[in-house]
Amino acid sequence: MRRCDLLIVGAGAAGMFCAGVAAQRGARVILLDHAERIGEKIRISGGGRCNFTNLSADRPERFVSQHPKFSRHALRAYPPARFIALLRAHGITWHEKHRGQLFCDDSAERIVSMLRREADVGGVEWLTPCRLEAVRCADPSAAARPADGAPTEAARHARFVADTAAGPIAARHLVIATGGLSIPKIGATDLGYRIARQFGHAIVEPRPGLVPLTFDAEVWRPFAELSGLSLEVDIGVPSRRDAPVFREDLLFTHRGLSGPAVLQASSFWARGDAIEIDLAPDRTLATEWTASRKDGRGSLAGLLAAQLPRRLAQTWLGHFVASHPKLRPEMRVAEVGNRDLAELAAALERWRIVPSGTEGYRKAEVTVGGVDVAGLDARTMQSQHVPGLFFIGEVVDVTGWLGGYNFQWAWASAHAAAMAATA
Ligand SMILES: Cc1cc2nc3c(=O)[nH]c(=O)nc-3n(C[C@H](O)[C@H](O)[C@H](O)COP(=O)(O)OP(=O)(O)OC[C@H]3O[C@@H](n4cnc5c(N)ncnc54)[C@H](O)[C@@H]3O)c2cc1C
Repeated sequence: MRRCDLLIVGAGAAGMFCAGVAAQRGARVILLDHAERIGEKIRISGGGRCNFTNLSADRPERFVSQHPKFSRHALRAYPPARFIALLRAHGITWHEKHRGQLFCDDSAERIVSMLRREADVGGVEWLTPCRLEAVRCADPSAAARPADGAPTEAARHARFVADTAAGPIAARHLVIATGGLSIPKIGATDLGYRIARQFGHAIVEPRPGLVPLTFDAEVWRPFAELSGLSLEVDIGVPSRRDAPVFREDLLFTHRGLSGPAVLQASSFWARGDAIEIDLAPDRTLATEWTASRKDGRGSLAGLLAAQLPRRLAQTWLGHFVASHPKLRPEMRVAEVGNRDLAELAAALERWRIVPSGTEGYRKAEVTVGGVDVAGLDARTMQSQHVPGLFFIGEVVDVTGWLGGYNFQWAWASAHAAAMAATA
């Protein structure tokens, strides 16, 4: 039987980082993953450049969770500056793109190599690809009866036994870093949730996050022709009190809405909720239009075209006049009543629409929900009732906003667990 201090299941961002930190602190670490290629989500992240952190990532309000304050301990203990220092030590250069989002100058592959190297320096044993069949609490006497020599300290204190395709492994600490459900084709599974339930942990119902929203074909018909159009908007989910209003770019697609604005809002959205979009943020259209009405020149169509992308202005007005038979796009603004103008302005500034669904885990960048943090210690990520069992990264009910927050959570939660398991 193989023996170790830490058996880490999942060699993604959190698992690899945890392995390196723990191993360099003297722990014997085995890192297991079923995927042929490890670190695949890092590779495809940030358009291939990996948005590896955000300068505001130590702010817990930038994370979605049933218990919003849970993440603050780990995030404070391992702030973005620590990860940036590690990148520097590996000669990886980076740049800030937008609102504190840091990307590699070169390629995301550099981060994967760095994590591999950090793990190798500590002597981590890689078991990849390798299937985990079952995991159970160890019978300490069985774990201390090795076939291959004297029992190690780790074996004497083994708390868990994992049955794997490479044989059984006895481990003192079991770290679950299997991530969320998004992008199943590169290895996402629900194994982490199953293990959590097996050990008595509750799961906050997982759902796709940072994902495009879709609409019924009939509802979307007037807007489908706008596919490819992008503009900056304010977006919110009014029925969710915890949902901020995000100012980001919105992208129209054939099936619905995407772009950073919608990805952000999607993490707060649940079936049945309306989203509200201000297509002309920072404008007070009704007031501006009432002034234009006074000078009397210009058409309704011209008025909209001056303030919105041309295609959007045309489609929007067509859609609006369809439900206002007195109005025609070519009408002079002076002929349009104040009430109609105010209604048109409100429709643009408070566009409420109910998505029918999302593009699902196939397209979602993250999974919202996961292992309920109420059962975890916020400083160590250790189970409160199963000593030695840890959950880190995206498998936990902590989901960051778009912009590097999810990787920072992976690093910070992994660091917390590694420190605790090697204390
Ligand atoms: C397209 C895309 C782009 C993204 N871009 C960014 C970005 O730029 N910035 C950012 O902060 N976040 C980004 N994210 C989110 C980020 O990738 C994840 O939040 C992060 O990878 C989570 O780390 P993790 O280690 O918890 O999980 P993962 O990195 O998903 O790793 C989980 C590992 O567990 C393994 N595993 C799963 N099931 C099993 C099993 N049954 N047996 C054995 N092993 C198993 C998987 O193979 C995988 O290697 C992006 C996500 C996607 C999908």
